[in-house]
Amino acid sequence: MARTPADTTGDEREKSKNVGALRALWPFVRPYRGLMLAAIAALILTACTSLVLPMAVRRVVDNFNGTDGAMLDRYFGAALGVAAILAVGTALRYALVTRLGERVVADIRMAVFDRVIGLSPAFYEKIMTGEVLSRITTDTTLILSVIGSSISIALRNLLLFTGGLVLMLFTSAKLTGLVLLIVPLVVVPIAVLGRRMRVLSRENQDWIAQSSGNASEALSAVQTVQAYTHEPLSRADFARVTEKSFDAAKKRIWTRAALTAIVISLVFTGIVGVLWVGAWDVRAGEMSAGVLIQFVIYSVMVAGAVGALSETFSELQRAAGATERLVDLLQAEDSVRDPATPAPLPQPVRGAIGFEGVRFAYPARPAVSALDGVTLDIQPGETVAFVGPSGAGKTTIIQLLQRFYDPSEGRITLDGVALTNMARDSFRAHMALVPQDPMIFAASARDNIRFGRPDASDAEVEAAARAAAAHEFLSQLPEGYETSLGERGVMLSGGQKQRVAIARAILRDAPVLLLDEATSALDAQSERLVQTAVDRLAEGRTTLIVAHRLATVKKADRIIVMEAGRIVAQGTHDELVAKDGLYAQLARLQFTEGGAA
Ligand code: ADP
Repeated sequence: MARTPADTTGDEREKSKNVGALRALWPFVRPYRGLMLAAIAALILTACTSLVLPMAVRRVVDNFNGTDGAMLDRYFGAALGVAAILAVGTALRYALVTRLGERVVADIRMAVFDRVIGLSPAFYEKIMTGEVLSRITTDTTLILSVIGSSISIALRNLLLFTGGLVLMLFTSAKLTGLVLLIVPLVVVPIAVLGRRMRVLSRENQDWIAQSSGNASEALSAVQTVQAYTHEPLSRADFARVTEKSFDAAKKRIWTRAALTAIVISLVFTGIVGVLWVGAWDVRAGEMSAGVLIQFVIYSVMVAGAVGALSETFSELQRAAGATERLVDLLQAEDSVRDPATPAPLPQPVRGAIGFEGVRFAYPARPAVSALDGVTLDIQPGETVAFVGPSGAGKTTIIQLLQRFYDPSEGRITLDGVALTNMARDSFRAHMALVPQDPMIFAASARDNIRFGRPDASDAEVEAAARAAAAHEFLSQLPEGYETSLGERGVMLSGGQKQRVAIARAILRDAPVLLLDEATSALDAQSERLVQTAVDRLAEGRTTLIVAHRLATVKKADRIIVMEAGRIVAQGTHDELVAKDGLYAQLARLQFTEGGAA
């Protein structure tokens, strides 16, 4: 289904029943213990100050009729001091807690990205990239709201609740007992109706999400909708879903109204009842007016704390869910892992490649063998072209050689060392890849070429671009090499993108070159330019090309013909044509029809 605005608010993210999952955040908070302790101190200070205030109010009230005017002044003077403490304490708590939250969440975001950027493609077959992204953005935002406010709100209200309750007891045990009797009467209907409210508002949100999904699909295909005069049906569809969301909203509104009426009447009945009893006590001289007021203020504080606690609890649950999903990513087991003590790659790197009885099936399709017993020896400096029908396993060879996946049987070696015995960084540093669909990043042309060697000088970048026949069109861009190529290289044509990718590979200057030729035919001019660039690039390097053009194939030292995950023939062009097998057939059909020969 299309992503809807509701997905990004965080309301839709699943909660966790286990609030304890939040404990997993501790390693991220621990470095900032000092900040946390300071925040807690500020929080305790303000909570205690709030709890002391009602007592002062009682003293003042009970002294209204007293003779000592100086005492009144003292108390109001002190009240100003208390207000100052509250102001500074609250501001401090806010600043410390929010800063802590932002810092911790920034650390979590970086930790998660650090982890996921290194995960093998096998991992991304199990989880959608969109899900990883929403974990990094939405879920971390949920955690921010928890560390940056919910936890401190919860803690403050917990203090106010327990402190307030204890002080209520001290103020008047009798009235406190009365209140505790009333509480269940108020809490039960609130809990029941509250739950119903949540269900209804969820339903409402689901319908809104669906209606916006509906609209976005129809709008993004507006030409098709209009061309097929489908507007009335689209309108009806949208109206139906929108009305449904209104119906759900209607129910929610009435439930909420009823809830409000019940809460107000119950709470006020309770307060009035307690005041009533208290007023008689005051009249009978068993209690002073100040004590009664003090009691009422405490009860309001405690009631407020209960309300706030019940709200933060659901936020804590949501954040616990978010934490579980993030921890999931942080602890994700990758099927491809570097050995604990990696073997070094012998220097200098020569670029000899070996496949020994390699069998492999993609995790997403375990039943189909993408490679079915491939044995292959490639000499340093050799240029090998892989040909065969689509799905034969040519690209898979390139993928396994970079150890994006591990074979299920057999092994792959570079200069005699098994890839699984080395750190992936160490051998990938000696490979340059030109993929079939070259990736251009939203950066300047210069930075795009420099991608695989960030320390290359401007002169080196230009030399690489010249060798790749890219210098001419790059220097004609509005800002030359500094021109941003736009997202996914929208500024460039297919052949130009390829030449930028080749320049990138030239600059990488690696002894092993992996080339997945583009299948789509280029115009003759681009074709020739790309071809020259590739020839220059392949010079003196071990080159593996997934070839789709006869020109490429003819130049190769050796051609390997693949079919259904196996090598079915190998040799030079002439040898293979003489055999009149699959290759001869391909050469007649595919290569010549591609128009490249
Ligand atoms: P070629 O490059 O020769 O066209 P590939 O090496 O891409 O072929 O594919 C070999 C086989 O593996 C095909 O059957 C293909 O469908 C399958 N395959 C390729 N990539 C994946 C993948 N990521 N997940 C599952 N199966 C895949």
